[in-house]
Amino acid sequence: MSTSRSNSSLLKRGFKADAERKSLHFRELLGLKKHDPMPATELAKHLNIKIITPSEIPGIPDDLLELLHKGRDLWSAAIFSRAEKKYIIHNPLHSPARQESNLMHELAHAICEHQLMELETALTSCVIPLRKYDIVQEAEAECLGACLQLPQKALFHYYHILKKNNSEISNIFTASSEMVRYRLSITGVLRIKYPK
Ligand SMILES: [Zn+2]
Repeated sequence: MSTSRSNSSLLKRGFKADAERKSLHFRELLGLKKHDPMPATELAKHLNIKIITPSEIPGIPDDLLELLHKGRDLWSAAIFSRAEKKYIIHNPLHSPARQESNLMHELAHAICEHQLMELETALTSCVIPLRKYDIVQEAEAECLGACLQLPQKALFHYYHILKKNNSEISNIFTASSEMVRYRLSITGVLRIKYPK
């Protein structure tokens, strides 16, 4: 699950730079250019993580399914393990931009090797919408998830070299314009002097 962006002070030194490197590394593994959009579904496939919606969970209790459906504005996505496999259960009713950032956030938990809850435990205790990691792990997933979606190199390329505006970058990367604005600022791309 995601949290606010105000916890980046919890990140250990070097985490952000490493997150940028990971983002580019996965692009390379997927045969993409450093500045290309990297769809979360492609990254999930590469990491062998299955993305499903609640109704696709085998054996999901009816009352939990109903709870997730009724509270559809209250939850975004969560990652679980079952046997050796990892699953992201996500809410397909959110906007495409929100879904993309939700998925990247959950993929980031897996890439950071955070301890994942067993799906069976989640099903029996009905905690799917309430799954929470500790605040440091949430800050890590928030940072890495955002870097995976919008690495600094990609923002530089589209903003300075291709002269794309915020909403064009949003469309290209399936990101909200708020997220693009935030990333352009936090990565320092806005402050870079580049010939117009
Ligand atoms: Zn999370």
